[in-house]
Amino acid sequence: MAESVLKYPAPELRKKTVPVEKIGEDVFSLVDRMIETMIAEDGVGLAANQVGSSHRIFILNAHPNEEDTESIVCINPTVLQQEGEEICEEGCLSFPELYLKIARPQKVRLSAKNLYNESFVLDLSGILARATMHEMDHLDGVLLIDHAAATDKEMIAKYTEETLGKAET
Ligand SMILES: [Zn+2]
Repeated sequence: MAESVLKYPAPELRKKTVPVEKIGEDVFSLVDRMIETMIAEDGVGLAANQVGSSHRIFILNAHPNEEDTESIVCINPTVLQQEGEEICEEGCLSFPELYLKIARPQKVRLSAKNLYNESFVLDLSGILARATMHEMDHLDGVLLIDHAAATDKEMIAKYTEETLGKAET
């Protein structure tokens, strides 16, 4: 069974992840779990700290609106280039039912390693560029509520208050 994604305010979500030194069994099984979870939760992407790992890894669903899923595994990713800007509504598996308008680049060039320890460069646009920036943020402990426009501040305050209230009880 796929495990569930950690929800805000889980402390792991605020922790900066650590680059992977050796891609071994633990990384293989982590990535398996992440893929299973992303598919089960219908996500476009997932960062390792969302399932409680401190590895600097995120995955993307290459065909977010299609039946068959193809996962892109990004280990120790770096953004090489960003272009343009687009403001769109964005959600996060760690913030159920919260959608915020966030400005992200239209195009992103990313470099990372795959599970075979090979480096690759990927050009992403639209929703996958957005997801890439969203997951890169996760790896640094940054969350979508940190990006929100001033007009959303009140809504976020209400949401986090309710979430924290629930977490305490
Ligand atoms: Zn997220």
